[in-house]
Amino acid sequence: MIGQKRPKLTVKQEREAYAAATLRDYGNEFNNVGQCQRCGITGPCDRDHRQGRTAWNTTPANLQLLGGAFGCGCHAWKTGNPAEAILAGFSVPRTAEPSEWPAWRYGVGWVLYLDEPDEGGCWWKPITNEEAAALMS
Ligand SMILES: [Zn+2]
Repeated sequence: MIGQKRPKLTVKQEREAYAAATLRDYGNEFNNVGQCQRCGITGPCDRDHRQGRTAWNTTPANLQLLGGAFGCGCHAWKTGNPAEAILAGFSVPRTAEPSEWPAWRYGVGWVLYLDEPDEGGCWWKPITNEEAAALMS
């Protein structure tokens, strides 16, 4: 990252981010079962970095559960289809800020993920198709 503004995250901060995102996506941090945010199947999931992992971006807004190799396989789909995954809301370009890049959430639609829950305890802010398209252009 050029002009690095944020300190590297500590192991504790990363652990808390994984726990928050896992609960947000209806997962169980002890057995890796959760809801894939691409297809909605509940099964074995990976805790995926929407933007490729760095020392700074293991944050709730940059994490999502996607089905792993023993589940629906959506994580492998994302890895194998990087350009399509960005447009579908499952990847964040290297130069973007994950909390400002639209995500597709199963059963909800386009959202911006939050790094802290809002006043109501929700970890995302729904946005319209038009807002998502504008943010991604
Ligand atoms: Zn899936």
